[in-house]
Amino acid sequence: MTPEPTEEGTPVTHPLLDLAPLTADHFAAIERRVAALLATGQDVVIMQGEALLPLEGCIRGAAHPGSTALNVVTGPYGQTFGNWLRDCGAHVVDLEVPFHTAVTAEQIDRALTDHPEIDFVSLVHAEAATGNTNPVAEIGEVVRRHGALFMLDAVASVAAEPLRVDDWGVDLCVIGAQKAMGGPAGASAVSVSARAWERIAANPNAPRRSYLSLLDWKERWIDGGRKALLHAPAQLEMLALEACVERIESEGLTAVMARHASAAAATRAGALALGGGLAPYVHEAADAAPVATTLRTPDGVDAGALVAAALAADPSLPLIAGGGALASTMIRVNHYGVDATRGAVQSSLAALGAALGERGVAVDLEAARRAVSETW
Ligand SMILES: *Cc1c(COP(=O)(O)O)cnc(C)c1O
Repeated sequence: MTPEPTEEGTPVTHPLLDLAPLTADHFAAIERRVAALLATGQDVVIMQGEALLPLEGCIRGAAHPGSTALNVVTGPYGQTFGNWLRDCGAHVVDLEVPFHTAVTAEQIDRALTDHPEIDFVSLVHAEAATGNTNPVAEIGEVVRRHGALFMLDAVASVAAEPLRVDDWGVDLCVIGAQKAMGGPAGASAVSVSARAWERIAANPNAPRRSYLSLLDWKERWIDGGRKALLHAPAQLEMLALEACVERIESEGLTAVMARHASAAAATRAGALALGGGLAPYVHEAADAAPVATTLRTPDGVDAGALVAAALAADPSLPLIAGGGALASTMIRVNHYGVDATRGAVQSSLAALGAALGERGVAVDLEAARRAVSETW
């Protein structure tokens, strides 16, 4: 839809293109509203890219040869963090937990006791890819007691479940807007504690004068009184981030989180009532993430084919097959953002049930529908 030039040769205006520049004050105001979502009084740095940008920036800022990191792996993102940590020359202790469960504070305590040299802990709060969520409040207490720096990937938990950065002692908390916040994927944020700033500033290998650099934002933006941005801000992404925070504020963060909790509980109950061997992938409901529910397909039923059949019936459903090794056995019901509704859950289970029925699997569609209604 290229606009036609006018007779004089000037292009016609376009609502996405001809915006006034985003001012430093406006940028700082969006930053403050994001900080409120994280329940933090720490510095919050908004970054102009998908959440992997601040995640990598945190690890490259804090890790270095001679440091030892405890990397908790409860899904695919933990594996990525381990690779970055090793790439930075850190010694990495991997604590791998089966994807159908959560890590416990006791497991973390044991790892930190066995390896007192650990000075950095990376953890994913909720895993949209595997459907589990970890008890960060308890873990934060343990990490604090041992004195390690605590990095949390809260991309899939923010706005889906409680996230209390300061109360939980999180030093580096990364969020993205594209999951439960219902916002854009191209803007992300990280809160940075005073301890974390000290650690990064003392690391000669921490990125400086780099797009990955958190320090650049501290020195040139925060310490400069938030007067001048480092580069032209990603205007559209920032406006979309502001709009999504406004939408959360007007519904109320508590109500948004309650919608996600209901969607997870209803999907779980509905899948169990549907029968036919479709089962919650995460064994205990307490370990299941409110952001998305993962389901294990019955023996002999390919998850990709089942999802394709359901999406053929309704392409708007928030369904996707698992990634990597989970592609044939896992279905993800991504009931987040605007899809955290009873309607989306009902339709998703109805479509999966119909697709199972077509494959000769006995399912009870009416029982599933009732279970969703009664649980929501
Ligand atoms: C979604 C998500 C991210 C962002 O990564 P994408 O692959 O771009 O979606 C990071 N961490 C977690 C835990 C996520 O769920």
